[in-house]
Amino acid sequence: MEEVKVLVALGANLGERELTLRSAWECLSKNENIKTIKLSKLYETEPVGGPPNQPMFLNAAGLLETTLTPEELLAALQEVENKHGRERKIHWAARTLDLDIILYENQIVNEPNLTIPHPRLTERKFVLIPANEIAADMIVPTIGKTIGEIYNEYVNPLD
Ligand code: ADP
Ligand code: MG
Repeated sequence: MEEVKVLVALGANLGERELTLRSAWECLSKNENIKTIKLSKLYETEPVGGPPNQPMFLNAAGLLETTLTPEELLAALQEVENKHGRERKIHWAARTLDLDIILYENQIVNEPNLTIPHPRLTERKFVLIPANEIAADMIVPTIGKTIGEIYNEYVNPLD
């Protein structure tokens, strides 16, 4: 199967956040069907949504190449989340690790458990900022614009 380019978002707001993000990226690089290309800088951000008084997040974006299908990649990401002590209790609650598929090449996926491009991409500065750093030229097929163009529209550079 052909390799596709994938943009993922990484987030953590519990425990040793930096260690967790770096360890998650390392775990992905050990998957024989995944080639990690680039990890963005880590950005500290305010929590969005979810219960009140959550701790700050540490976020990053990563570029990888894979032969896995979107569903297989989601399973691989969830395995890494689980390895890092992720408990699925409350939606959007504090978590040790969150791994989301933002873009899978220029493909659109609409399954009950998987939506690509990630539907809340444009509302999430904590995704757009690191994504713009490493994948400004990737196209968001549902919008017909690049990450860089969307970043320039939605993220005020003076913020
Ligand atoms: P969020 O990432 O929005 O904070 P969760 O991590 O709790 O929320 O997401 C739960 C579910 O979201 C996952 O079980 C997965 O099936 C679904 N999901 C839908 N689209 C995606 C995507 N593009 N990447 C990752 N998970 C997704
Ligand atoms: Mg998630």
